[in-house]
Amino acid sequence: MKSSFESFPQDPIHDFESPIESMIAAAADLDLVKMLEKDSFQEFIQSFVSLYRIGIRVFAKSGAKLADFRAGNGAFCGYLWESGQTRKACTQIVEQLKNDDFPFAEGQEKSFVVNCFSGLRYWVVPLVYQGDLLGRLMVGPYRPMQIDMEFPEVTTLEPKTDKKRLQIYMEPIRSLDENSLQQMTQHLQKSMDVMMFAGHRAMLTSSMHIASTQESYAELEEKNRSLREANDRLKELDRMKSNFLATISHELRTPLTSIIGYSEMILEEMAGPINTEQKEYLDIVVEKGGSLLSLISQILDISKVESGTLRLDYSSFVPDEAVRLAVTSVVPQMQKKKIQFSVKITPHLPKIWGDKAKIAQILINLLGNAVKFTPEEGNIDCLVDCISQTDLDMQAHMGQSHSVQHAAFTAPIPPQKAISIFDHLSKQYIRMIVKDSGIGIPTDKLEKVFERFYQVDNSSTREFGGTGLGLSIVKNFVDAHNGRIEVSSIIGTGSTFTVYIPVEE
Ligand code: ADP
Repeated sequence: MKSSFESFPQDPIHDFESPIESMIAAAADLDLVKMLEKDSFQEFIQSFVSLYRIGIRVFAKSGAKLADFRAGNGAFCGYLWESGQTRKACTQIVEQLKNDDFPFAEGQEKSFVVNCFSGLRYWVVPLVYQGDLLGRLMVGPYRPMQIDMEFPEVTTLEPKTDKKRLQIYMEPIRSLDENSLQQMTQHLQKSMDVMMFAGHRAMLTSSMHIASTQESYAELEEKNRSLREANDRLKELDRMKSNFLATISHELRTPLTSIIGYSEMILEEMAGPINTEQKEYLDIVVEKGGSLLSLISQILDISKVESGTLRLDYSSFVPDEAVRLAVTSVVPQMQKKKIQFSVKITPHLPKIWGDKAKIAQILINLLGNAVKFTPEEGNIDCLVDCISQTDLDMQAHMGQSHSVQHAAFTAPIPPQKAISIFDHLSKQYIRMIVKDSGIGIPTDKLEKVFERFYQVDNSSTREFGGTGLGLSIVKNFVDAHNGRIEVSSIIGTGSTFTVYIPVEE
């Protein structure tokens, strides 16, 4: 039979109670099985049995057996168990031992003696803790001081019983007077009181611990829930803000384009001659209008990206077209700053499947920054070629200093894995390099420049204009084409931005 210790009932984990409630529940739910630690309790009872040479059994109120150690009565009881009548009588004694009610006196359960038909005796002791009956302790069988060795009851039940054998089998059974037995059980009871007290305390502590853990968990859950809600609200607000910005920017752009267009027409004297002063003022209107238009366009682009409404206008085109479009729009600024500009486009480049205007915008932003952050008479080079994944891996293998990569995939990828992913996506890339001899970017800021609104110099006295949106737009456009962007820079020497766009398969 399995020990009931193996089926300790578990405390329910999801049933939240406050620590106090749980303590009260634990105090009310006194159970010997929960209070006593199986191994040490059995060891303790066994040491008692060896010391006093008398059997001890312990049962919880529920009937669960907590300990069962016998001493000396094996052969005697085994012999009586052989015959049908005496076996029946044995079973009855066991029933009595386990189930008979304790006599009650002075408001408390008392011990009682069970006389076996063999003449042996048992002493049944109540296990009481804080006034509650929690179980019973059975001590025996023992031989009382006066015992009839003729075994009258046994022979009445089973006349064929061999009395001589019974006398021999009785030898190892301990003979005890009631006084010594009482002392011994008192000793045992006291030790058990200590064990029950320690067990109960441990039980209370652990239920307190479980309850407070559950409470903290519940609190955390609650906090998580409100955080999630706040986050959802913020996301919704952010989306609304992006939609609002997209609408406003769009509405601003149309009249602004007209203002610039008409100013240019007046400048070209299409509406009649103008004087030098008027020309000067109109030049300023066109220039500032242009800056405002570029700012509005950037805000429109980023809000489209954020609201998820960015759409690519796909077509198959040779990169030269987009490069020329971009270069034309930045050449006037370069000329103003007397910058040495070189553009090298490898002939017969393969086609890209993407949005030509967005690819041009990538270059416009990079070239625009190069002009902005390069002093007068500096150098800017733009190189457009095609590179294979194998060459890229070779380059990565050789090592590149201060280079931060921004690819459509964000996690760092080990070389072998990178090959397989790139192989899968595309084997060839259009590479666009914009290299300037400008102020450079500190190494620890290289990664940050792609964040929205980030500017290396964000002081109120900053020398260069801008919004901090240009590179964030570039990064988003590159990602939308499954490409990647790298930057390397040396302070005071210049920066190099490299964009890779997969070629059409
Ligand atoms: P901004 O409108 O400020 O140019 P960007 O997003 O284009 O915004 O760039 C973010 C920041 O990155 C810039 O403010 C600047 O500090 C730095 N940066 C970008 N390009 C260059 C460059 N070619 N040389 C030096 N710094 C650069």
